Amino acid sequence: MTRSIQAIRGMNDVLPDQAYLWEFFEQTVREWMASYGYRNIRMPIVEQADLFVRSIGAVTDIVEKEMYAFDDSLNGDRLALRPEGTASCVRAVLEHSLLYGGPQRLYYSGPMFRHERPQKGRYRQFHQVGVEALGYPGPDIDAELIVMCADLWKRLGVPGVRLEIGTLGSLEARTLYRSRLIGYLERHLGRLDEDARRRLHSNPLRILDSKNPQMQAVIEAAPRLLDDLDQDSLEHFEALQRLLRAQGVAFEINSRLVRGLDYYNRTVFEWVTDRLGAQGAVCAGGRYDGLLEQIGGKAAAAPACGFAMGVERVLALMLESGGEIPHAVPDAYVVHQGEAAQAVAWKTVRYLRDRGFRAILHCGAGNFKAQMKKADSSNARYAIIIGEDEVRAEEVSVKPLRSGAPQARIGLAAAGDLLGRG
Ligand code: ATP
Ligand code: MG
Repeated sequence: MTRSIQAIRGMNDVLPDQAYLWEFFEQTVREWMASYGYRNIRMPIVEQADLFVRSIGAVTDIVEKEMYAFDDSLNGDRLALRPEGTASCVRAVLEHSLLYGGPQRLYYSGPMFRHERPQKGRYRQFHQVGVEALGYPGPDIDAELIVMCADLWKRLGVPGVRLEIGTLGSLEARTLYRSRLIGYLERHLGRLDEDARRRLHSNPLRILDSKNPQMQAVIEAAPRLLDDLDQDSLEHFEALQRLLRAQGVAFEINSRLVRGLDYYNRTVFEWVTDRLGAQGAVCAGGRYDGLLEQIGGKAAAAPACGFAMGVERVLALMLESGGEIPHAVPDAYVVHQGEAAQAVAWKTVRYLRDRGFRAILHCGAGNFKAQMKKADSSNARYAIIIGEDEVRAEEVSVKPLRSGAPQARIGLAAAGDLLGRG
């Protein structure tokens, strides 16, 4: 016997009982983005692997361990399933010269792929909503992005998401800090794990991002980038804080916030929660002024800033906080018996749908009793019953399913009015 085929580990089906939550989230995101003037962009899921190596950085968890890269069997190209969206978005913006039309406020959403150890809140196919503001140099846009997030938590009814902000300064300040950090870490070589030792000279800042509990003490005591900050970056960071305070957004400064990707500079931020166990990072982002030049060359240089949120984690938070999530139910389930009644039933659902109602037509055989059971379990507000008598009288019978109100035999227009009254 052949074994049945199952989904790939860490790649999940979203069944209808959960999909309503996704739809509610997606609808909220669309309205939220529109209200801030951000436009949707859609990129392919597969890109040249080199795009991510160049942008995210060769010495990062994502590129070293997590990226699904493969050779195109037809032409030998090295391809990858996108592990994140920023690089693709920037590639698309440059490829289509969108910045010639001025700065761009953009967002995208969709699946991302990382070969991680699957656990609650950490999957191999997961989903992100990503927001990128390209061509804006000032702290005002950094603040806008953060304020937007705070606004989304409100719209979704998720409490308890904490904001941490930090700054990575300019490239020069980082270089200075980098050598101070290497010096410090070399003095504590015995306390570094294998990963950290390997990265000591190639990417020491990433060591600060280590999740290894054994290394937290040595990370805590490390010198802080904040103390080596250049004047411009310091002013940028202070302006951001003033704007956040003015908008009533609470934050903590986290001087160890370095983010797992190489391309950030100046502002970095993370929204975290204690309600989801170890997978507490809900949304993360920052400024990446060097990335456009890195991907597109000198002529492409432009400032940029963005964030990405993990949809599965946000949804888990929504469920956890127990808020009321609107669940669309059908307005009517139409049951019928006999050929003439069936024709009227088709006409009835058409009439109702044209008026914006959700109407389910009973399909398949079954007597009235069996059909009414289906109507009940569909969660519809009303059953509409069409038998020989109704056909003869050119009427339908409307039976409320969620209240004790009596059944009524009325014309189709009156039935529409009745449904419209709620
Ligand atoms: P983490 O520290 O949890 O690995 P990250 O720093 O790798 O997160 P980013 O690359 O910044 O994550 O992605 C932004 C957001 O995407 C994260 O804050 C998280 O909510 C979500 N995310 C990242 N990886 C996964 C995953 N494997 N499964 C589910 N969500 C994820
Ligand atoms: Mg990660």
